[in-house]
Formats: sequence, structure tokens, C-alpha cells
Amino acid sequence: MFGLMQEQPLLISSLIEHAAEAHADRQVVSRDAEGRIRAFGYRELAARARALARALIELGVRPGDRVATLAWNDHRHMELYYAVSGIGAVIHTVNPRLFPQQIGFILNHAESVCLFFDPGFGAMVAELAPGLSGLRHVVEMADDATVPPLGDHVVRHSYERLLAGHAGEFAWPQLDDRAASGLCYTSGTTGDPKGVLYAHRSTVLHALSAGGPGGFDVTRDDVVLAVVPLFHVNAWGLPYVCALSGATLVLPGPRLDGASIYELMRSQLCTVAFGVPTVWMGLLDHVSNNPQLRPRDELRLQRIVIGGAAAPAALIDGLQDLLGCDVILAWGMTELSPLGSIGRVPRKGELADEDERRRRLAKQGRAVFGVTMKIVDADGRPLPRDGRAAGRLLVRGPWVTSGYFRHDEPLLDADGFFETGDIATIDPSGDLEITDRMKDVIKSGGEWISSIELEGVAASHPAVAEAAVIAMAHPKWQERPLLIVRLRAGMAASASDILGHMAPRVARWWLPDDIAFVDDIPHTATGKIQKTKLRERFARHQAL
Ligand code: ADP
Repeated sequence: MFGLMQEQPLLISSLIEHAAEAHADRQVVSRDAEGRIRAFGYRELAARARALARALIELGVRPGDRVATLAWNDHRHMELYYAVSGIGAVIHTVNPRLFPQQIGFILNHAESVCLFFDPGFGAMVAELAPGLSGLRHVVEMADDATVPPLGDHVVRHSYERLLAGHAGEFAWPQLDDRAASGLCYTSGTTGDPKGVLYAHRSTVLHALSAGGPGGFDVTRDDVVLAVVPLFHVNAWGLPYVCALSGATLVLPGPRLDGASIYELMRSQLCTVAFGVPTVWMGLLDHVSNNPQLRPRDELRLQRIVIGGAAAPAALIDGLQDLLGCDVILAWGMTELSPLGSIGRVPRKGELADEDERRRRLAKQGRAVFGVTMKIVDADGRPLPRDGRAAGRLLVRGPWVTSGYFRHDEPLLDADGFFETGDIATIDPSGDLEITDRMKDVIKSGGEWISSIELEGVAASHPAVAEAAVIAMAHPKWQERPLLIVRLRAGMAASASDILGHMAPRVARWWLPDDIAFVDDIPHTATGKIQKTKLRERFARHQAL
């Protein structure tokens, strides 16, 4: 017997219409490249998204077509999120920090018919356009188009002119909620980038779970700062979560340095901010180097959410101490829309046992409702949830990918689980700890050494700004860890100082044999330490 409830499709357009009706007094606040702030109420934003939807239809964009973006976080990019998906097309967000060849590969693979871009990317678009066979329209996200003619097959437009011609009534189509809504390519650290294709249903379910009390816990009293880019995994779902909950959403534009972020947090009275560890390292440096700032009085920040890469304990402590806010750790990936797990870190003194608190700093929290996890050994046998056994992490759920875009090979195991490529432990209470990525793991004498844990311990030395650990080939142990360190400006520490600091904190055989000091640690376009680059650079480094 079926229940007698209405069957409404879970559509992305319903989120913005909900915000326009129920949260018209809340806003999307956007800062542009020049630092100018503009605020739009949700009702106005919804009207602009409808006008854009009409314009897209008139340009010939059909359901299923891919519409690409090369843009920072601003209100226009957010409008595109709703307009493109709302008409049944697929918003294909492209990371502008990738190499132009990678961007070209991604745009061609997706066969995007339209490309929206920030004026700052005009030169890149002019260079790429001749090589993009399916491209029919480029739209400069500005009042007027400044990009030069791009050849016969591509028509140029400006965003505001397109919108101006299409204001008025528009009813969003009633789509099948399994229809594709968005496309995001993984960074391709192992081979060509692969496309993850989101659907309306998966996106709305993810927003409900990720935004709710077991997730980011965003309410209409929040002012949310999304430092996480709209061009990578839907800015962790925040454009949907904020519309759903009526939170004000602050979009920082291209300036993401510590000073610019601090100023935005201060002027907009942000209550919660989302970003990768490198962004928060920049903020912390800015606050530490400017003693005249009074973050605890000037900011209204209640929590900082860190995800995308492991957060060193020193960063978490620094944010708690200097800003006086809570730190929330989240784990996820492009293939998970992205949220998989989340947890709040206890503050100093909150737990009777400080050692227990320190252990918790390394954990990524519990699975959110909707995501089922398992850890297995090399042969696929289940491992216990005892907080010690580390194994391959697999996940299943309605917002986990079932296959990559235009890749035919099956992706899931016999039970429908997706292999994340991460190595993790899960403790008896359900807390997850990512100890490594499969491709970064160091295998010494047949046993795994966690590069993430070593990096965290090294970064807890006061002179260490950032640490990375890679494997070095070793004649006896197959691999041994090499620690690469960037010191804080104006501070000094020798290899033996740092090793002496680490020795009581890690197993003896984990202790790196050597430390290399560098001026800069390279990062990927999504803020992760670029270990492939470091491996190339230190390929000849001899074990001691
Ligand atoms: P990519 O395109 O590189 O896959 P993602 O942003 O999807 O980019 O990265 C997902 C990966 O990032 C995860 O598989 C995991 O290794 C790492 N990651 C994400 N969040 C965390 C976290 N909180 N702690 C440790 N690693 C994390």
C-alpha cells in the first residue's frame, strides 16, 4: 500500500522560489573585483534568475545542454546556478585556476554550448574559443561585453543586456527530478579530469541534509560567508542551503587573502564561514600579524567550517584562540556533492581529558544522514570500527556518484558502494578519521604511515607554517617519509628541533628520516598540497 502524500519533484527552482516567498528579507551580498558591495534580496535574485532563464531559452539552450561558467563567487554566478538548472540545462562550473589546456579539455569533453565568464577571464576565453567546437555563445558577466570577436561560430553577449531584455513572468518547467542539473570535474590528479553529474533530486536532498542540524546547521539568522568557490563542487551546496534556510549569503569575489576576508567578515557581520585550510591559514596570519585587530569584538563569527583537506591542529587551535569561534571539520569530495561527514571540534577545557581533545582534532566527524560508509582491507574484507584499523573508505547514498560523465566503466562495487580513494579509520562512536589518500600513503616495511598525521604533528611546531610529507624510495623499507617544511616568516628551526618536537608525538618508526626546507609548498587549484609536484622535485632526494 502506498502512502497518500503528494508527489512533488524535488527541483532546484523550488529552492529559489521558496527563498523569494519565505525569506524575502534575506539577501545575497556580493563583492566584486574592485571591492564594491552589492546586495540583492532573494525576491530580486529570483526575478533575475527567471529573466536569465528566459534569455537562455531564447539563445537556444535546451534541456540537457551544458552551460559553462568561468567565474568567481558573485551574485551573477549564483543566478546562473538557478537559471541554468531551472530550465533543465546543466550548469558546468569550470575551475579558472586550472591550466588553460585542462580547461579546454574539460569544456570540450562536456560539449558546453554557452560559456559565461568574468571579465578578468576574457583573454583566456579568447584564446580557448577557437578550439571549442560545440560553443555557440559566450556571455561576459558585466554590463557590457568587452571581449573581442571570437570567430563566426560564437556570438558575444553581455550579461546585463541579456537580462534587461527578458524581465517578466516566467514559470519554471516541471522536470523529472532525476534530470541532470550540474556538472563538476574532479581536478584530475590521477589522469584526465572526470565529470561528476549532479541531479535535481540529489542536489535538493544534499541541501536538506547538509544544511540541517546534523550538517552545517544553517538558519535564517545566519550570515554565511562562502569562501569555497562556486566553481568547485557547488561551493559545498551553500547556494542551495542558504536559499532553503533563508540565510544571508555573502560571496567574496576574487579577493580571498586574509585581509580581504577579514574585512568582509567584519563589515557583513558574518556568523559562519566555509573554506579550505589554506584560506584560514591566510586569515590567521593576517590576524596574528596585525595586533591592532580585535576579532573577538569586531567579528560576529560563531563558527568556521574547514573541509577539502586535513586541517592541522595548530590551525584549529589558532582559530579557536584568536577568533573565539567554533571550528567544524567536514570531509567530502566532488563525487559526494560534496558532504560526507562533519563534526565540531571541542574547545580547550571542554573535555576533562586534553589528550582526548587532541585526538579529536584529527577527526572529520560523523556521516551525515544519507551517506553510508564502510572501511575494507586490501582484499575488500570489512574492517572493524575500532578507531585503529585503517582501510579503504567506501560510501553509498543518494548524492554519491554512480558513474562519471561519458565514462562507461562501472564504478560501484557489488553492494553499490563508491571507492573514495581515501584511507580512514572509524571509531566505535562513528567518528571518521581520514589518515591518507591511497595515492599518498607511505608504505614502510609493509606497514602504512599516515602522511596527514605526520603533517599535523610537524605543523604544531611554532616555527612551522606548513608541512607536507611524501614517500621516498628506500632500499630496505621500500618507502620512508620525507618531511617538507615551510617556516613562518622571521622564525628559525633546525631539522633536529622539529624532529625533537615530533619524537614524543608519533611512533618511532614513523619519524621522518629527513626534513627539506622550502620557501613555498605548491597547492592544487582546489587548495590541496600538490604532492605530485613535490614528488617530482624531490625525486632524487636520497634517504639518509
Ligand atoms: P579532487 O577533485 O581532488 O578529488 P575534491 O575536492 O573532490 O577534489 O577532493 C576530495 C578529497 O579531498 C577527499 O577524497 C580527501 O582525500 C580530501 N579531503 C576532503 N576533505 C578532507 C578532510 N576534512 N580531511 C582530510 N582530507 C580531506
